[in-house]
Amino acid sequence: MDAVGSSMTRSALAGRALHHWRFHELLPIEPDSAAFAWPVGCTPIIEAARLASWAGVSRLRLKDDSRNPTASFKDRASSVGVLHALQQGAGTIACASTGNAASSLAGFGAMGGLPAVIFVPERAPEPKVAQLLMFGADVRRVRGNYAQAYDLCTAECDRYGWYNRNCAINPFLIEGKKTCGLEIAEQTGCDLPEWVVVSVGDGCTIAGIVKGLVQMQELGFVDRVPRVLGVQASGMAPIAEAFKTGDLPREYEGKTFADSIDVPVPRNWRKAVAAVGETDGAYVCVSDAQIMEAMKSAGALAGVFAEPAAAAAVAGVKQAVAEGIFDERSDALAVITGSGLKDIASVIRIVDEPAEVDPLES
Ligand SMILES: *Cc1c(COP(=O)(O)O)cnc(C)c1O
Repeated sequence: MDAVGSSMTRSALAGRALHHWRFHELLPIEPDSAAFAWPVGCTPIIEAARLASWAGVSRLRLKDDSRNPTASFKDRASSVGVLHALQQGAGTIACASTGNAASSLAGFGAMGGLPAVIFVPERAPEPKVAQLLMFGADVRRVRGNYAQAYDLCTAECDRYGWYNRNCAINPFLIEGKKTCGLEIAEQTGCDLPEWVVVSVGDGCTIAGIVKGLVQMQELGFVDRVPRVLGVQASGMAPIAEAFKTGDLPREYEGKTFADSIDVPVPRNWRKAVAAVGETDGAYVCVSDAQIMEAMKSAGALAGVFAEPAAAAAVAGVKQAVAEGIFDERSDALAVITGSGLKDIASVIRIVDEPAEVDPLES
C-alpha cells in the first residue's frame, strides 16, 4: 500500500481518464493501454432529494452503475476478468449464468477480442440469451438447470484450459468489484455518506465494495469507512440469516422476483457477512412488493430506472428506517447495480396502462 500510495495520489488521479482503470495500481493486472480505453466504472452519483423524503432519511444519493457498458455493475468484474485472462494468455473465457455476469462477460469478450463461451440453463429467459448472442458469444443451452450448467462449465474449463469467470472460484473478480468502493470514496471525499447500501445475492459485490472503501481509508483518501447496509429479498435471505446466526442455513427454500439476487446457495457468504460486520453495518430484508414500490419510486422521484435487484437497495433504505437502523437524520448512498431496461417484461406487470386518447380531428 505504501508503493500504491506514492503513485496513486489525488493529483495523479485527477489527470487520469474517467474509467475504473484509473485505479490500476490496486488491480491484479499489468497496465495495458489498449484495454484501458474500455469504458467501465466512474459512474455518476445522483442526489435524490425527493426519494430521500419518500424513504424517510435526510439525504439519499444513488450511484448509478446501470450506466456501465452492458448496463450493470458486473462490468467491473468482467472487464478485469477478461483483461486478466488475456494477460494470462488464455484463448477462451467461460461462465455459467443467465444474468448480468453473462451479458457483461459477452460484452467485454467482444471488446477485448477474447472468445466467450456461456453455458445457460434450459429455461434461461429469451431476452437475456438474445443479449449474449448479440455480443457474439458462443452460447450453449444445457438441457438441465443452473447447477448442471455450472458443473458442465467447470468441467469444460478444466478440460480445455479455458479461463473461468465465476466469482465462486475466481479470486480476481472481487478486485474489479472493489472499484465501486474506490470510486465512492474518491467521488464523495470529505462528503462521505454515513451509510452505503448494497443489494446482496451471492455476496461478492458487497464484499468488494467494502474492500474498496477500506483500501481508500488505508491510503488516506477518506478518514473513515462508511457503515454498510446489506439488503436481501425476504424470500431469499440466506446471507442475512447467516449474519445473525454465524452460519449459512442448510437448505434455503424461497424465491424472489429480483432474479439477480435470487441465490439460494451463495458462494461468497463468509466474505459478505464479515465485510458488513467490519463496518459495524447491518442487514435488512425487503419483500417483492417493497421492491416493486421502490422501483417505481426511484423512477418517478429520481429519474433512475433500476432493475428489481438494484431497486432492492432503495427499498432497503426505507426498511432500515422502519427498523430503527436509520432515522430522519441519516445520510445514505445506495448502489444501483443494474438497469430496468434489461427485463421489460417484469416492468410491464407493475406499471399502469397508458391513458387511451383520440388524435385531433382532421
Ligand atoms: C449480481 C447482482 C447483484 C448482487 O451481487 P452479488 O455479488 O451476487 O451479491 C445485485 N444487483 C444486480 C443487478 C446484480 O446483477
